[in-house]
This record gives sequence, C-alpha cells and structure tokens, in this order.
Amino acid sequence: MGGGRGAGLRRRDGSCAAPPGAAPSGAQLRSVAVVARPEDCTACGSCVDVCPRDAITVDDVAKIDEERCSGCEACVTECPNGVFELTET
Ligand code: SF4
Ligand code: SF4
Repeated sequence: MGGGRGAGLRRRDGSCAAPPGAAPSGAQLRSVAVVARPEDCTACGSCVDVCPRDAITVDDVAKIDEERCSGCEACVTECPNGVFELTET
C-alpha cells in the first residue's frame, strides 16, 4: 500500500507571496535620469533647455538633481553625446 508520506509541500493559508508584478508597498520605483558618461559632455547646454523640471545644471559637465527629475527622458533624447541614461531608484 502506498503509505502516504507527506506528499509535497503544504502551503499555509493566509500569507502568500504578493501577486506577480506587485510592487512592495512603500517601495515605489521611480525613473530618473543620471549622468552616465560625464566625460562625453561638451557643456553645450541643450539638455538644460529641454528639461521641464529645471533639474539640470551645466558647469564643466551636466549634473542632474535627482529630486527634481521626473524621468521624462527629454534630456536622454536631446543629448547628442549620449551622456544621460534613465535608471530606476
Ligand atoms: S529626465 Fe526629464 S526631468 Fe529628468 S533631468 Fe532629464 S529632462 Fe529633466
Ligand atoms: S546636451 Fe549632453 S553634451 Fe550638451 S550639456 Fe547636456 S549632457 Fe552635456
């Protein structure tokens, strides 16, 4: 006879994992632009003009205030030198 050894895993009802794709509460991902290749910045200022949040300043090279950045990607598209990348924080 097949003595029923514990046939597999039993799940405790009650607290399962969150559904796939659900973000953990309180940890919202947000897209922001970062200066990924500062060495390629020619300080042309084009990105400053297109940023709707005034998040970019250019001195020697572009800098982004991540608190202001909305992740709209305008600077990523605008920069002729591929200085910016979008990332998630
Ligand atoms: S992604 Fe948009 S808001 Fe953020 S720095 Fe670039 S242009 Fe500004
Ligand atoms: S558009 Fe690109 S090269 Fe021009 S200032 Fe901005 S980051 Fe630098």
